[in-house]
Amino acid sequence: MTEVNKQANIEHYRFHHIDTEKCKNCEDFSCEEACFRGVYKVVNKQSIPKCTVVKEREDFCIKCHICTTQCKKEAILID
Ligand code: SF4
Ligand code: SF4
Repeated sequence: MTEVNKQANIEHYRFHHIDTEKCKNCEDFSCEEACFRGVYKVVNKQSIPKCTVVKEREDFCIKCHICTTQCKKEAILID
């Protein structure tokens, strides 16, 4: 896959950016577990998982970076 295509998989929120292509093979959904502020919701866990940011909770993020550390696939970027 080219770099351009990879970029197309990134879903942008206000300051979170998720490479949802990487979520497709995720099995532990550790982002949801890691974030004690409830910023993430993983949808389609039984089929093709995708991490989403709960928009009304994004501002609760304190940029502790526990989630970026816990996501083994390094799918999360925070500005
Ligand atoms: S963000 Fe990381 S931990 Fe969360 S579903 Fe995607 S790959 Fe899995
Ligand atoms: S940086 Fe911390 S508070 Fe922000 S989304 Fe990640 S785990 Fe949650």
